Amino acid sequence: MKIHTAEFALSAPDLDACPDWALPEFAFIGRSNVGKSSLINLLAGRRELALVSNTPGKTRLLNFFTINGGWSLVDLPGYGYARVGKEQSAGFNQAVAVYLAQRPNLGHVFVLLDSRLPPQAIDLEFLEWLGGCQRPHSLVFTKTDKQSPTRTRANVAQFTARLAQVRPGPAPEVLLSSAKDRTGRAEILGRIGALLDERARSNG
Ligand code: GDP
Repeated sequence: MKIHTAEFALSAPDLDACPDWALPEFAFIGRSNVGKSSLINLLAGRRELALVSNTPGKTRLLNFFTINGGWSLVDLPGYGYARVGKEQSAGFNQAVAVYLAQRPNLGHVFVLLDSRLPPQAIDLEFLEWLGGCQRPHSLVFTKTDKQSPTRTRANVAQFTARLAQVRPGPAPEVLLSSAKDRTGRAEILGRIGALLDERARSNG
């Protein structure tokens, strides 16, 4: 998929403030520092895009971008922050939980995981919760340039084995990315393109 236009649409503090549009949405979420901004910049080919989400006051909002006028990329707040307050559950923002559980437009969630790390409890907990929502999702292992492909494969295998223990059922799709090496872009955009085609077929 070619990206012709990528524009910031709006930031929403909760589900009610989400855009009133029919665009299919594809959401990106992960622990803070997982490389989400870098990946979004790589996908959109616009450096300023994820900068919007990182401006003070916006890091805890749901940030919507319109891509090619036909779909929306949604940058969700990172979870596992030290600033987790009383209003948050399962280590992530309540508004995010409501969005993920209830937003009709949401087509697919890309859950970002750091490919360097052994399985992290917070990621497993989040995926266990997301599985319960019946939301289709893929795992994106970021920063693969940081270690050898063998090490990356071992970490992915370890993570998926742990996930199968906490959450039996079909294993989610696994994608790999490196914002530094600019890899994974075609695979992620290809997945979004295929989902958009599927949707157009079922609507048409
Ligand atoms: P976010 O908090 O999830 O939005 O993470 P950022 O995109 O801001 O990245 C956090 C840190 O990891 C920054 O120092 C980035 O430069 C670095 N980083 C992000 N993606 C990659 C990657 O693919 N490879 C490497 N080597 N570093 C990365």
